[in-house]
Amino acid sequence: MIPLVDLEAQYNSIKTEVNTKIDEVINSREFIQGKFVTEFESAFSKLHQVNNVVGCSNGTAAISIALQALGLQPGDEVITTPHTFIATTEAIIHIGAKPVFVDINPKTYNIDPSKIEIAINKHTKAILPVHLYGNPVEIDKIADIAKEHHLFLIEDCAQAHLATYNNVPVGTYGDIATFSFYPGKNLGAYGDAGAIITNSAELSAKCRMLIDHGRKDKYTHQVIGYNQRMDGIQAGILTVKSKYIANWTKKRQQNANIYNRLLSNNANIVIPHISDKAKPVFHLYVIQAKRRDDLQEYLKDNGISCGVHYPIPLHLQPALKYLGYKAGDFPITEEVSKNIISLPMYPELTEDQIITVCNTIDKFYLQNT
Ligand SMILES: *Cc1c(COP(=O)(O)O)cnc(C)c1O
Repeated sequence: MIPLVDLEAQYNSIKTEVNTKIDEVINSREFIQGKFVTEFESAFSKLHQVNNVVGCSNGTAAISIALQALGLQPGDEVITTPHTFIATTEAIIHIGAKPVFVDINPKTYNIDPSKIEIAINKHTKAILPVHLYGNPVEIDKIADIAKEHHLFLIEDCAQAHLATYNNVPVGTYGDIATFSFYPGKNLGAYGDAGAIITNSAELSAKCRMLIDHGRKDKYTHQVIGYNQRMDGIQAGILTVKSKYIANWTKKRQQNANIYNRLLSNNANIVIPHISDKAKPVFHLYVIQAKRRDDLQEYLKDNGISCGVHYPIPLHLQPALKYLGYKAGDFPITEEVSKNIISLPMYPELTEDQIITVCNTIDKFYLQNT
């Protein structure tokens, strides 16, 4: 069996250290926020070369809080991609704002900067691109558009820990950025967790207030906030993992290179495109494949688990029907969603396993052409 992700292998490699840290948190009883969260925030601020990190409860809340800290109001429009996990869009809707979709670039699968300007109107307040699969969007172009039109720029980095664009870590091009530490993400907790990063001390202070009941101090509530704090056990685990994330990222990149080498001659497949300035971190290794559903079934029958991220574009989701979009509105997203498949990808994946996956793919096409 080759799984899509293997969290057990990683835990086994850091078990003693993680368990010691969990004991330490429990013995100190710093369960919510506190010194372990501060310790992680400082570790993550070094990793992403940013002044302020606000640990919080999950990556979805991080986006809502960041938008609210920027001052977005109900009725404001936020330009984003229809090809992402629904959380990106939900977070916009949770604060009463309206997501406005723009189609993706067929090579990067990320929002197409050349299509953003036509979607801007007097209600537009922010652009929210996603570095999907850990592959950085052309963030320099989007930052220029945001600047020209006086829009906020917020980056959803939930899949892109340590990815860089032009040698600068993602999450620092815009006003503010958000991360998820969901267990399966590149840097994953053992429960839900997330973070907001920004170089603005003012925005950081606002986020800190919002995640903790709008507190200015223990008994003074300055604004109506939320309970979206990070807990100590998750922070402790993430601090331990922070030491290894650079090395794990390197392994993901090496694994992607092996896949690229073995799959590049297969005419039935499109391997991931990497633009000059982008250094992706392969949260997922996504290819386009002919007869995708049959291939996925065949791989499954041969003990290889794959995924599809994501099979139904957001503008066609029942929950978002009220936005008024219809099939055909974003043809590239719709086409890509039919052809993509995510192959097994995690740092501990071995070269032999990758060879097995690629040989099995080759066998499928030999039998079916
Ligand atoms: C995982 C993810 C989120 C949400 O993060 P949670 O921690 O699960 O709330 C948001 N956006 C993208 C692109 C994601 O992959």
